[in-house]
Amino acid sequence: MSRYAYVNGQFKQARNAVTHIEDRGYQFADGIYEVCTIVNGRYCDFDGHFARMQRSLRELRISPPIGRAALELKIRELLKRNKLRTALVYIQVTRGVAPRNHLFPISGTPPVLVMTARRFNLEESDAKARKGVKLASQDDIRWGRVDIKTVGLLPNVLAKQAAAEAGAAEALLVRDRVVTECSASNAWIVDKAGTLITHPKGNSILGGITRETTIACAAELHIKVEERAFTLEEAKAAGEAFYTSATSFVMPVIKIDDVTIADGQPGPVAMRLREAYKAKVCSA
Ligand code: PMP
Repeated sequence: MSRYAYVNGQFKQARNAVTHIEDRGYQFADGIYEVCTIVNGRYCDFDGHFARMQRSLRELRISPPIGRAALELKIRELLKRNKLRTALVYIQVTRGVAPRNHLFPISGTPPVLVMTARRFNLEESDAKARKGVKLASQDDIRWGRVDIKTVGLLPNVLAKQAAAEAGAAEALLVRDRVVTECSASNAWIVDKAGTLITHPKGNSILGGITRETTIACAAELHIKVEERAFTLEEAKAAGEAFYTSATSFVMPVIKIDDVTIADGQPGPVAMRLREAYKAKVCSA
């Protein structure tokens, strides 16, 4: 929990930072969010996160509450107030406050922008990556537009909770036997020939910003990438598996359900990509 939060144009102590009970985010999940990582004051993949935020707003027809330069200034201020240089920043925009009605509120209703920040422990993340993590498969029961980063995350919450209760770090979401992505990250496998495989972009996955940068890192390392659907069985039989997100970077997977991936160690391709990603986005 951050000590200072940004809400409705003001920095407030987190415990006093509130929005109205008729905020449409609260009543309808009518809003979008972004999470980006800042390492030693450097914004990781900020262009991508800002562009996706604009896209999410456009798709939901919510007017952008702030321009890029102002947003960056507010984030800097938020980090300063919280005495953070390496952090996760959460940005949320809802359609605003209005008497409860499914229809959009009258035009001119201002969107509500909320931001919080918390410490990001890169060493802890690296230690987790060196060990590798487990995934538990779960049915992907989400709606048809998960390419929009909305705050409507109940299916993701239920999947991640079920995965945690099964002793796994993340849920691997499966629809019609195909792996779409994870509850809060994109899923990848490496086949026996060393080719990276990840679900293509479209309405059934969130186009991860880390996913895009990982594709760019793979190109630089001359690693072949195939954006195509793969099944849960394929994932379990893969040479390697990993997931990507702004908060996990590239995270090697060593087990899916009760099946050990390859030799049960973080894969060399995943570890190379993790280092390449870090060098590209978070080094000074
Ligand atoms: N898929 C889902 C469902 C997510 O919530 C996230 C994290 N926001 C991602 C993928 C990864 O996206 P990014 O790399 O932009 O963090």
